[in-house]
Order: sequence, then C-alpha cells, then structure tokens
Amino acid sequence: MGKSIGEKIVKAIKVAVKTDEAALHKPCFDGNEWIYVKECLDSTYVSSVGGFVDRFETDLAAYTGAKYAVAVVNGTAALQIALLLAGVKPNDEVLIPALTFVATANAVSYCSAIPHFVDCEERTLGLDPRAIRVYLNSISEVRNKQCINRKTGRVIRTLVPMHTFGHPADIEGLMSVAKDFHLTLVEDAAESLGSFVNGQHTGTFGLVGIISFNGNKTITTGGGGVILTNDAFIAKKAKHLTTTAKIPHSWNYVHDEIGYNYRMPNINAALGCAQLEQLPNILKAKRELLKRYISAFKNISGLHIFTSSKGCESNYWLQTLLLDKAFAIQRDEFLRETNAAGYMTRPVWNLLNNLEPYKNSPSMNLDVAKSLGSRIINIPSGI
Ligand SMILES: *Cc1c(COP(=O)(O)O)cnc(C)c1O
Repeated sequence: MGKSIGEKIVKAIKVAVKTDEAALHKPCFDGNEWIYVKECLDSTYVSSVGGFVDRFETDLAAYTGAKYAVAVVNGTAALQIALLLAGVKPNDEVLIPALTFVATANAVSYCSAIPHFVDCEERTLGLDPRAIRVYLNSISEVRNKQCINRKTGRVIRTLVPMHTFGHPADIEGLMSVAKDFHLTLVEDAAESLGSFVNGQHTGTFGLVGIISFNGNKTITTGGGGVILTNDAFIAKKAKHLTTTAKIPHSWNYVHDEIGYNYRMPNINAALGCAQLEQLPNILKAKRELLKRYISAFKNISGLHIFTSSKGCESNYWLQTLLLDKAFAIQRDEFLRETNAAGYMTRPVWNLLNNLEPYKNSPSMNLDVAKSLGSRIINIPSGI
C-alpha cells in the first residue's frame, strides 16, 4: 500500500531538517552574545541608558537603510507608537489584515482606534492592494484629504501592511492605495528583518515601520522592537515618547506630555548587537533550508512550499506549506501526524475578526484570508 500524504509530509520534513525532531523555531547564540551581555553586566548599565542601545540603533539603521531607528521594549509597543506618530487618533479606523498576529490589532486598540479588517492575496500572503482599492471605492469617500468611511462616518486614517512570516507583501501596490486614499502607511515588519523588495528593506517604505525581536523572531533581544523611519521629526518624537517624554536636562524632571516607558534596556540591546552580527548567517541557513524543503516536497502533489514573489526576497523566518483547496479538510490530520512524529508544525493564526474583542470590528469580505487560514501549515524553520 502507498504511503498516506501525512506520512509523506513527515518524511519530507525529516529529509529537509536532517534531524529526528524539530521545533518551529529556536534562537541560536553562536556569536558574541555571551561576550556582549557580560560586557553589559560588567558596565552596570543594564537598563534604559547605555552604549549597546545606541549601537544597536545605529547598526539597525545601517542594516535596514532606514535613516533612523529607535529601539523599544517590544514590537507591539513599537507599533503603538508608530500608529500614534502616523496620526492615528481615538475613534479612527485603521486598515489591517485579518490574517496577522493579534498584536497588530491590539496596537490599534491601544490608540483607542478601531481595526478595520481587509483581505489578503494568495501570491504574497499579505494585503491585496487591488481588492482593497475596490473596497475603499465602494465604502469610502475622500473629503478634505481624509478618507471617510461612509457607513460609520469615521476617518480611515492608516493602512498597515504586514509581511507574513517574512514574505514581503505587495508594498508598492499598497503604497499607491495609501496615496490615492490619503492614508498614512505604517508597516508591521515585525516578522521581516532581512526581507527586501527590489533591494529595499521591508519596514522602510511607509512613513513608519516596526520590527520585533521577540524570542521567536529571526533574531532576538529576549523582548524588543524597533521603530524605523526616514523622517527626522518622527524619529525625534518616537525617541521622546518612548522615553517618558522627558526634556533632556542634567537634573530637572520636566515631561512635556504623557510619554511611555518603552525604551529598550541596554542588556537586551547587548544581545541584539551580537544577534545582528549573526543575521547574514541565519538568513543563509534559512535559504538553504528552503531549498531542501522545495526539493523534499516537489513530488508530493496537492501542496507546495511557499516562495516569495518576483523582486521580493523573504527572510523565510517561518517556512510555509500551502495546501491546495482540496486538501484543506485534511489540515488538522497533517498537523496531528507531524507533531506526533516530533516535528513541530502549526496552523496560521485564527483570523482576528473571529476573536472575541474584534468580532464587531468593521471588515471587508475576507474570502482569501479565510481560505489561506484553512490551508497554511508552518513547518520547522530553525537552523
Ligand atoms: C511578533 C509580532 C508582533 C509583536 O511583536 P512583539 O515583540 O511580540 O510585541 C507584531 N506583529 C506581528 C505580525 C508579529 O508577528
């Protein structure tokens, strides 16, 4: 009797990862991590001031090509501040994918704004600029250079593309939608450090972008994030807001607005500096793993390994198995079999519009996100 598809998937993963069990992702500290963290401890500057934070910011700006980088406590906090800086005000609507991690929506909520869910395209797993354009044409109108939702009367202020698992969204198409509808563009590049579109780093296309350094991301600072921008005023404001809005002074405590204690601690940045040095090796290993996956899966019909589209260079943070529509009903069986065999696999997030806090949020038709939501399996992606 021939092997079941589940068995074939387990075999293909085993061949690609070359081990008998594998996690979805695990950080590796093969570089100067111990040295820099010790140096940080020895300096006693472990908290919100210190050389490693400044250096991490400089290194991140150099790597991404962003003019400015402001390091913060995590990606969610980075996104909250990015949204505020992009002009998001209480009761505004913010267009975000339904197919994303919950942090994207939560950051909008922290600004007392309302997530408005829009659909993805299968080609990129990111927001679909064509579908969003058609949708906005039908539900909104531009008045005084503001996009007004005719159903709710609220301002649709901002568009937030997210680069799913590191695979770049159609950022150029989305920029053009943002421009035509007078929306500010904030990139949730939490997952896409090391991903580029036509040679430009993700997270640097919008007015503001953010990256996460959580433990499960491509590189980690334990917890951490960064705000990227090319705008000097926004960069200054980002630094000010994330450091309790304190006016620099030798002894006086003057805070000129309600700020946030979101500065990345120096000890996290020490880890980050060492991790960033390892990034080229990590990206190389992820690309080699991708090649092994493509070859291991090429003779299994009904599914394929997702690769990023033309002109895009994904970091392949999480390798993605995409089932054909006919196999969606077997997804859970595949998840059971692979996990039982010792290979950690996961479905994609529940669509956010299905979660209790967001079930009444405005939304366009989400057919593609729904379909993708039933067909994506993330497979072991550690190196
Ligand atoms: C990880 C992640 C975040 C949040 O980052 P944290 O550092 O965990 O707060 C935001 N958006 C997306 C899409 C993410 O994957």
